[in-house]
Amino acid sequence: MAFEGTGAVTHIGGFTGMSSTNQSRALLPRLRSRAGTLTIGACAAALLAGGGVAQATGGNGDLFASGHATELSQHAKVQADLQQRSVTEDAKQAVAAKAESEQAVAEKAAADKAAAEKKAAADKAAAEKKANGWVTPISGGYTISATFGNDGNRWAAGHSGQDFAVPTGTAVKSVHKGTVVKAGGNGAGDGPAYGNAVVIRHADGHYSQYAHLSTVQVSVGDEVKAGDQIALSGNTGNSSGPHLHFEIRTTPDFGSAVDPANFLRDKGVDV
Ligand SMILES: [Zn+2]
Repeated sequence: MAFEGTGAVTHIGGFTGMSSTNQSRALLPRLRSRAGTLTIGACAAALLAGGGVAQATGGNGDLFASGHATELSQHAKVQADLQQRSVTEDAKQAVAAKAESEQAVAEKAAADKAAAEKKAAADKAAAEKKANGWVTPISGGYTISATFGNDGNRWAAGHSGQDFAVPTGTAVKSVHKGTVVKAGGNGAGDGPAYGNAVVIRHADGHYSQYAHLSTVQVSVGDEVKAGDQIALSGNTGNSSGPHLHFEIRTTPDFGSAVDPANFLRDKGVDV
């Protein structure tokens, strides 16, 4: 036989005044505890304190079974809401994390693309600079054996070019892009003193000439780029030893030479 006192109900009323989710968490255990106390023997005190309103609930009376179904239902709803909210939050976070990850991938792809484009542009610029640039006719080691304007019994009116002393068979390269306009023996038409020779016309109006060659490797009409191999050096013609005789001319022909070392230095070439 147990009694339920209005004192307990009043107390519950205090809890229902709580509005946060704590209410639903705190409600169940505290009510059960209170109910247990009342069932054991506080019935009289509760009756006195509560003003005499009490009802018998039978041997298996449950405080929650009848009068507080609404609160229990609310509790369940709050729990369900919390659970739903939690699921929703998880889903939102998953979506946000996915979006963040996709954004990071997209940003990296964009950065990679920008870097690749920058490199391609730099490579293109370097290639253009190289293609439009000037180089020495001999790459690697050489000795300057005679410079432009040198006096000597080998030249009637001063040396018309720049000599690079190198072993016979050294690769000779075009100093700039251009078109081969002379190639062959007898100084390619300029006379036997030059031996085998090549003359290349460049777009800026100058001509480069290469002489005393052992082997000519291009033909008239060939297009060449800066650094392209055109011949092997030698000791043909009026030569005192293996070397490349190199001229820069203002025409294809002998007699129009300018100082080739100064010319190349003006083009940024270290001679
Ligand atoms: Zn020379």
